[in-house]
Amino acid sequence: MKNLHPETICLYGGYAPQNGQPRQIPIIQSTTYKYETAEDMGKLFDLEADGYFYTRLQNPTNDVVAARITALEGGVAGMLTSSGQAANLYAIVNICNAGDHVVCSASIYGGTFNLFSVTLHNLGIDFTFVDPDCSEEELNAAFQPNTKAVFGETIANPALTVLDIEKFAHAAHAHGVPLIVDNTFATPINCRPFAFGCDIVTHSTTKYMDGHAAAVGGAIVDSGNFDWLAHAAKFPGLTTPDESYHGKIYAVDFGKAGYITKATAHLMRDLGAVPSPQNAFLLGLGLETLAVRMERHCANAQAIAEWLEQHEKVSWVNYPGLKSSRYYALARKYMPKGTCGVISFGVKGGREAAVTFMDSLELASIVTHVADSKTCVLHPASTTHRQMNDAQLEAAGVKPDLVRLSVGIEHVDDIIADLEQALAKV
Ligand SMILES: *Cc1c(COP(=O)(O)O)cnc(C)c1O
Repeated sequence: MKNLHPETICLYGGYAPQNGQPRQIPIIQSTTYKYETAEDMGKLFDLEADGYFYTRLQNPTNDVVAARITALEGGVAGMLTSSGQAANLYAIVNICNAGDHVVCSASIYGGTFNLFSVTLHNLGIDFTFVDPDCSEEELNAAFQPNTKAVFGETIANPALTVLDIEKFAHAAHAHGVPLIVDNTFATPINCRPFAFGCDIVTHSTTKYMDGHAAAVGGAIVDSGNFDWLAHAAKFPGLTTPDESYHGKIYAVDFGKAGYITKATAHLMRDLGAVPSPQNAFLLGLGLETLAVRMERHCANAQAIAEWLEQHEKVSWVNYPGLKSSRYYALARKYMPKGTCGVISFGVKGGREAAVTFMDSLELASIVTHVADSKTCVLHPASTTHRQMNDAQLEAAGVKPDLVRLSVGIEHVDDIIADLEQALAKV
């Protein structure tokens, strides 16, 4: 059947068992695959034939789950990686070499910011970070002749800024480069960035996609829309022969799957951040309920954000689903069904009050994780950012009283009762 809804793709995408075959995605826990002749295997090594030979490059379980995510995003090709970090690393270095440059929203996940601004910078790839709310002129001014990509997050973790995908896509395309969007917080249930001009999507599947805090993982999906050959000089890795595969040209020999084929055949081969089939299986299981979970996450978070906003002990609330949010209009445009389950807010009384509040929670737990089925909280000022004083925190956009609340799928009244009793102790 064609044109299935996302709710249905969550259950069936990528896997169509035939008569008598397993209902659930089989875990192919094998590093290697057997062939009758050396010639059969040789063809795989030359990318002349399709097939499996070593799980670092491809594995049937991983491929089924990658195909499910690809279908959810509406892309043409996709792959899994061992973490979200690996997904963003591969997405960039698949098209950027030392001496290249990327324009990036300044409002992104801290781990990605570090990967880009320190590790990739040290390897010779430079990033210009722009205010996501900048004007088109300011955005265009960030490009350089060596710019090879633009990067942003649909909903930034933890700032919860909403990316104006069309604005960023427009600027990227005007400069002949693709837009890469990390769609982790929105998930394809709430936003499909390809519909707004994004070319490549990445995910930390560790979050809502797995949804149960069980398996770290990542994914990359290609829309197939970016015309690499039209900008061939910028992307030699895709448009000139790869001698390690007897001169195959990814964008020519693999068409719309060229970008993902290169990331698999070249980057997985050399860097090896492949997930275990067991983790891919857990991810596939999590995806089955993604649509229903997202609906509940968003309904709960909306109710809780509105409740917090009128609470006397709460100084401010940041949630893109609130009318008071500066991102409300963008959220309505890009995510009409809802945004995500993550809220940030301030407790009156600052750092100490925030800590008292968190320590008093009974249902919600204190964890670094975010975006899974159980409600959890993090106080960046006393954990991830604890080395900073109040002035430094302010400069980093992390207020000392900021609590990040990741709303789960419990009954909303139970979450509110827990928040209420903990706020009463402040
Ligand atoms: C968590 C996260 C990452 C990193 O993913 P890991 O799976 O932890 O490696 C990347 N981007 C966003 C938006 C995230 O929330």
